[in-house]
Amino acid sequence: MKKTISLFFILIFLLTAAACTSGQRTARQAFAFDTVINITTDEKDSFSINQAFEKCRSYEKIFSRTDSESELYAINQGSVTQLSADMQTVMKFSLEFSRLTDGAFDVTVAPLVELWNINGRTVPPSEKEIKEALSPVGYEKIQFEPFSAGGAAIDLGAVAKGYIADRLTEYFSQSGITNVIVDLGGNVAVLGEYTVGIRNPFNPGQVFATIKLKDKSAVTSGAYQRYFEYQGKRYHHIIDPRTGKCAESGIASVTVISPSSMHADALSTAIYVSGTDALTLCSNFPDTDALIITVDGEVITTENFEKKYDLRIE
Ligand code: ADP
Ligand code: MG
Repeated sequence: MKKTISLFFILIFLLTAAACTSGQRTARQAFAFDTVINITTDEKDSFSINQAFEKCRSYEKIFSRTDSESELYAINQGSVTQLSADMQTVMKFSLEFSRLTDGAFDVTVAPLVELWNINGRTVPPSEKEIKEALSPVGYEKIQFEPFSAGGAAIDLGAVAKGYIADRLTEYFSQSGITNVIVDLGGNVAVLGEYTVGIRNPFNPGQVFATIKLKDKSAVTSGAYQRYFEYQGKRYHHIIDPRTGKCAESGIASVTVISPSSMHADALSTAIYVSGTDALTLCSNFPDTDALIITVDGEVITTENFEKKYDLRIE
């Protein structure tokens, strides 16, 4: 029997425990990147959290595909050749990662993301529409120095939150804060040691398992939060850029753990698209592991996962 405690309660419980030992903690919530973000620190006031929220707002002005004032929006209009330092880092990584995954992760997937418009649709697009949206997709089109998207449109939805989580934990660390949980809509990064829950992809209100994280990030990709159903079939927000359709690789959810939240974020999406064999992608990154829950409920992990993260299946 799975326990009916939500991830939220698990986190709250842990934070309460942290508060007991440190004597103080501050938790704040905000909305950014189309998701709820929660940050908790062991500080007694919310100054550093408010600073972090400010940073989130400025990162949105860089990485949002839909905000007409963002750098990415201007890039997709073809009006930018000089990238900001943050954009350069994320774009370079995304391009290299697109190559590494042979296009399972493709940074030029934007026309398909727009077509599928998961939050706005109730009926899937036609084969003809999919074919049309597929034609400008292809990471090979991107050039650096000077930067050119080569007619492709870019989406950083599978990687930007990870990059931002890394920048936020870096900021907290530089501010001398040693215990913090940054949760950007399920994209979790911690300083210090915390136990966090992995949601049950078949019943997202429940915790499937818990893991222990120390100065690491855990990022989950799954089809249980952003989706619509049509004629008994689920359509979700992770696209297979090779077919133009929602990825169907036999994975219900994949959680990647890494010291880099950007690596974990990109990997979780790529593994979700490619299937269980893509677990081997983790070995390209230092100290990086993953846990897959298949659509049949089977759990598959990288080596030593159970011991390394004190995995407990509920
Ligand atoms: P979430 O956004 O729920 O955290 P992911 O990290 O898996 O989930 O990213 C999914 C998002 O990434 C989509 O909303 C879309 O913007 C983008 N995306 C979807 N499919 C791909 C893909 N194959 N390669 C790169 N980006 C993708
Ligand atoms: Mg991702």
